Amino acid sequence: MDRDQLAEHLRFAGELGVRGVSRDATWRKRRDEADSPEISDTPTETSPGVTPAVLFTTSAEALAAVRVDLGDCTRCKLHMLGRKQIVFGVGNPDADLMFVGEAPGADEDIQGIPFVGRAGQLLTKIIEAINLRREDVYIANVIKCRPPQNRNPDPDEVETCEPFLFQQIDVIKPKVIVALGTFAARALLRTLDPISRLRGRVYEYRAAKLVPTFHPAYLLRNPSSKREVWEDMKLARRLLHET
Ligand code: URA
Repeated sequence: MDRDQLAEHLRFAGELGVRGVSRDATWRKRRDEADSPEISDTPTETSPGVTPAVLFTTSAEALAAVRVDLGDCTRCKLHMLGRKQIVFGVGNPDADLMFVGEAPGADEDIQGIPFVGRAGQLLTKIIEAINLRREDVYIANVIKCRPPQNRNPDPDEVETCEPFLFQQIDVIKPKVIVALGTFAARALLRTLDPISRLRGRVYEYRAAKLVPTFHPAYLLRNPSSKREVWEDMKLARRLLHET
């Protein structure tokens, strides 16, 4: 690691709230113990197909049409289970970089905007650490309504809702998608592998490169994993500049 890289690494760690590093060998070894597969540019999976939104002059218009189609959705049981509103997505309709989380939580349900709670604030710092602003990227979730007590989305809820995410992706056409956490990575990649096995690789996904990483809520509980997230974000940034 040269000086610039080290400075960048420390700046990232500082922005995410890391208050220091330790010279203790056990501290340095943590990464080796984590399950971190080799980064590979080899496509491993392709995504399921849905009809992309067409016939619109701008992505903003096409996204607005997807939102209109979603309407005041009652397609799955979540509309009867206490959701306050649909949380569609936020950001630049022409973003090169898109983040996909799991489902809205309590704060998101109140505000109608994804990732605005504590995990969201950490996500904002992660975005800023690669010199982007929230407005530059697009942020959405696999499902658009809050599950009661923040339980995991049920398979039927995912199946009903994910076509809208696919349409968002097809309209925005990001170069890179960062899947946040096990749930989003599994749903998008159609696998049951845990995030610890999925991260560290690049996947071909709906004409984008998909980079799975840990969910910011997981990072709040496991700050030591910020190191892996920084690696994943550097990978995402490299892919953004490459493609
Ligand atoms: N967690 C998510 O997965 N999505 C949000 O929008 C907020 C928290």
